[in-house]
Amino acid sequence: MGGSKMEIIDIHAHIYPRVAGITKGAPMVSMRHGKVKIGNQITQFLPPSFTEAASTPETLIAYMDWCGISKALLMPNPYYGYHNDYVLEAVRAYPDRLKGIALVDLLRGEEAARELERIYEDTELFGFKVETDSTFQCAPHKHMTDADLMPVWECCNRYRQPVFLHLFTDRDVEDLETLTRRFSQITYVICHMGADSCFQRGRNRGNFQRVLRLAKENSNVYLDTSTVPVYFQEEYPFPTSVKIIQEAYQAVGAEKLLWSSDYPGMLNHATMRELIDMVVRHSKIPQEDLRKIMGENAKKLWFSD
Ligand SMILES: [Zn+2]
Repeated sequence: MGGSKMEIIDIHAHIYPRVAGITKGAPMVSMRHGKVKIGNQITQFLPPSFTEAASTPETLIAYMDWCGISKALLMPNPYYGYHNDYVLEAVRAYPDRLKGIALVDLLRGEEAARELERIYEDTELFGFKVETDSTFQCAPHKHMTDADLMPVWECCNRYRQPVFLHLFTDRDVEDLETLTRRFSQITYVICHMGADSCFQRGRNRGNFQRVLRLAKENSNVYLDTSTVPVYFQEEYPFPTSVKIIQEAYQAVGAEKLLWSSDYPGMLNHATMRELIDMVVRHSKIPQEDLRKIMGENAKKLWFSD
């Protein structure tokens, strides 16, 4: 492999026919020119060139081709709405470029577990994504480890599926620790290096170290590198974010880091090329380890067939 071209795989990219989620109880609706109406507020959700405020597989693949990304994992999020059918259609249309993660409503417990089971048995979608802020926004007293939600984790464990977690609170970190102890057949991917639970103001400062410890001590726990700049409101080349990724690299090793873009939302903050370069060009991680982070780890996990 020596000096050959570095393969880049994006393990966290979003597609959706329209934005149809709920934020703080308010419905989200796609408008024109990248704008989204959240309740009565209109926000510039995507760059204006996303004319319908949709994210199509064709546009994603054009970005991938443009920037040398060979494959992508399509990541759902209740924040954008429930679009399993749309993701499945994309995976079937571009089987050598795209794979898709499943989304069910964790709050529905047993019923959600049965839906996941059907998805694993009948479709090409795999894994499970949970974003705790959207999931629990209308049930703030609920937690990931509540007894009635256990069937979902049991299903992921039984099918040896990866779970992608976007954590928001201090309690979420504690819950993740509990899940990793109880369900050893799940592959855990901690989105955005620990996300809001680590980098949002007001959170326990030790959370990032706890998340790193989890990845270091468990062979089935990984971190995705995307979206960190958003928490520090910094500009390219994102020095604080690069430092955090380097710190994680020192703590857990290259084998446990997975590069990702969090396309298309991150295009509000950088170009796709800059999202690659912040790690490839601006970190001091050696070349052979960069190859693992940028693609080899993801290939081994999900793209080797
Ligand atoms: Zn995302």
